[in-house]
Amino acid sequence: MELLQTIAAVRNYVAAARQRGLSIGLVPTMGYLHEGHLSLARAARQQNDVVIMSIFVNPTQFGPNEDFARYPRDLERDRELAAGAGVDAVFAPAVEEMYPAGYATYVQVEGLTEVLCGASRPGHFRGVTTVVSKLFNIVQPDRAYFGQKDYQQALVIKRMVRDLNFPIEIITIPTVREADGLALSSRNKYLTPEQRRSALSLHRALNLGSDLIKAGEREAAAVRRAMEKEITAWPETRIDYVAISDADTLKPLEKIGGRVLLALAVWVGNTRLIDNVVLEVND
Ligand code: AMP
Repeated sequence: MELLQTIAAVRNYVAAARQRGLSIGLVPTMGYLHEGHLSLARAARQQNDVVIMSIFVNPTQFGPNEDFARYPRDLERDRELAAGAGVDAVFAPAVEEMYPAGYATYVQVEGLTEVLCGASRPGHFRGVTTVVSKLFNIVQPDRAYFGQKDYQQALVIKRMVRDLNFPIEIITIPTVREADGLALSSRNKYLTPEQRRSALSLHRALNLGSDLIKAGEREAAAVRRAMEKEITAWPETRIDYVAISDADTLKPLEKIGGRVLLALAVWVGNTRLIDNVVLEVND
């Protein structure tokens, strides 16, 4: 497997593949790989001749008081895991390669980025859409892979691709979970054993909400209250948001119906975790 650290090296690698008529799949990540990332890589492996994974902890998507500096990094381990999942090349640039001195251009999707995680993390999605645009321009893949775990992110990227005419197919892959239901995340590493138990409250709240809706509850406020109660029953939890929204527009719902997104963000100690589930409610 190739390790590419400069934009010029990626361009050469991609040009050689294109000359041979090969299709290219891109898997953007911030590294510290787990099975969630690897399921994206495996899907890309099945659907493309060449798979490129980017590993870049993108400073522009972190707020000033967030965990950019302490975000876990282990490139050696990541290279082995990526190779095992069939990745052909890892692009792991330095921050200065992506944002040289004088960098001044940003990509912003309006509307969809102003709710949920966008409301709690101002500037976050602007950083995401900027770095993903740059990766799309550098790699020029046929397809790019994103996880449903970051549902809003995938939706924002799809809107950006549509609005800015990127000739790239965006593919969303289901959330990979631990055996007990906790969504895999590089940030799970921050959790103490007790916090790891409390982290399960996200999955339990989503299950509870889904069960209430399946049993016929259609008042979003009632479902939200039950979910909030489940979360706050666990030690060291603090709710950022619990949202019941239209899965396409992300607008909050009062009456539950159609394609419904249950999404939440919860602080467990100093770690902010997110999870979501999408339900079809047709009655
Ligand atoms: P990250 O490295 O956290 O920025 O994630 C890189 C990509 O992996 C994003 O598209 C995420 O949505 C996806 N991802 C992260 N965790 C999971 C998971 N548990 N299941 C599926 N995809 C995931």
